[in-house]
Amino acid sequence: MAWEVVIGLETHVQLLTKTKQFSGASTAFGAEPNTQACEVSIALPGVLPVLNKQSVECAIKFGLAIEAEIAPRSVFARKNYFYPDLPKGYQISQYELPVVGKGHLTIQVGNEEKTVRITRAHLEEDAGKSVHGAQEGMSGIDLNRAGTPLLEIVTEPDMRSAAEAVAYAKKLHELVQWIGICDGNMQEGSFRCDVNVSVRPKGSDKLGTRREIKNLNSFKFMQQAIEYETQWQIDTLEDGGKIEQATVLFNPDTGETRAMRSKEEANDYRYFPDPDLLPLEVTEADKTRVKAGMPELPEAMKGRFESNFGLSAYDAATLTASRDVADYFVATVNAGAETKPAANWILGAVSAKLNADEKSIAHSPVSAAQLASLLKRISDNTISNNAAKQVFEAMWAGEGEVDSIIEAKGLKQVSDSGAIEAIIDEVLAANTAMVAEFKSGKEKAFNALVGQCMKASKGKANPAQVNELLKKKLSA
Ligand code: ADP
Ligand code: MG
Repeated sequence: MAWEVVIGLETHVQLLTKTKQFSGASTAFGAEPNTQACEVSIALPGVLPVLNKQSVECAIKFGLAIEAEIAPRSVFARKNYFYPDLPKGYQISQYELPVVGKGHLTIQVGNEEKTVRITRAHLEEDAGKSVHGAQEGMSGIDLNRAGTPLLEIVTEPDMRSAAEAVAYAKKLHELVQWIGICDGNMQEGSFRCDVNVSVRPKGSDKLGTRREIKNLNSFKFMQQAIEYETQWQIDTLEDGGKIEQATVLFNPDTGETRAMRSKEEANDYRYFPDPDLLPLEVTEADKTRVKAGMPELPEAMKGRFESNFGLSAYDAATLTASRDVADYFVATVNAGAETKPAANWILGAVSAKLNADEKSIAHSPVSAAQLASLLKRISDNTISNNAAKQVFEAMWAGEGEVDSIIEAKGLKQVSDSGAIEAIIDEVLAANTAMVAEFKSGKEKAFNALVGQCMKASKGKANPAQVNELLKKKLSA
């Protein structure tokens, strides 16, 4: 039987606020255990939560970025459960009325565009951490993270492959950094995905029973976990088994997923509105104010690159896939480069080198200004495209600036027509057979002669000029 996989994601985004969701304690990562655990974080009796306005702004920014409805009034609820890292005995979250409603995100998978519907996004607080083994034979509780502001973003079950799920997660990861609400640091847990996976016979419109893979913090693991889980579910069903709804963990060492617990139901949590917090109100004026402080969004920038710069949809999408790449492109153009060559070089040579060296574009050894000056030397005919590749390599290796490298390597293109004519005369004299072929109508012989001239000039002759002058001489 042919099967179809169905995937929906829940992503916890740690918001870039200085202080916690409901207190003034710091959210900085990496401090000594419990040095950022204030009275509210450790839930001393009688303390009251005070909502962090900055986190609300982050939620509004996100809602605007995915063209979602932003609720004029949303409600904080208590999600009750017991765990040692949760001293209050409940997590403050939003349940029935989330701050961000239905929106969408467009992803690119290969050459295809697809829209993923976002169901909702709600504000909540993180729990603390159990630390095992820091002291011999004991477990400790670190409450520094308790109360850290999170935005949980939930999709509809719209994805149909691991590749689509990863494309969505990457796009979301870039977006939250683009609008400045999250640092995107996955190692530190600032961006964590729970992936819900089910399978069904291809063509069926009924959803299968899902299992939820918890806390994936790398795209590679996400891809592996979904692929393993999908195959496991298909094998189970084909062997006549049944899928039980469950929460599973991915083990990166074995590449397998394993059930951790059977899935709890919403009513297990006995959600109810938190009596210590007023409903959250967001006015039109709030939205206008927040919007005014937001950067141009990737979709808008993509449209602008297509219509103003004449870039293809694919190039525009790739250049706006991350803010750092977009910034680099814009800086290159602002430094005087033409848009299309700038796009080609960034998506070509620059990306290839960054990948090979495992560097991010923000740390590119060749700056946008340096790339622009290289492109200028191509467009003013100082060097050929081929020579430019050598200059680029040398710049990457830290050998200096464009002009000094051209000088040092003797790459200057010969554009003096007298010198080029002399080369052409030599080549024509040495290749009489080719000339005869050309005159008898073989167009190909012309290119061969151009090749000979380029070779004779050691690649330095300006190819356009060689073409032009050669044509003239042959028709004389
Ligand atoms: P819960 O409240 O139990 O987490 P939700 O209804 O909020 O459940 O769904 C959580 C996530 O699971 C959403 O992203 C949703 O799209 C996804 N999901 C729901 N049903 C399925 C299914 N049958 N297969 C795959 N994903 C699903
Ligand atoms: Mg949920």
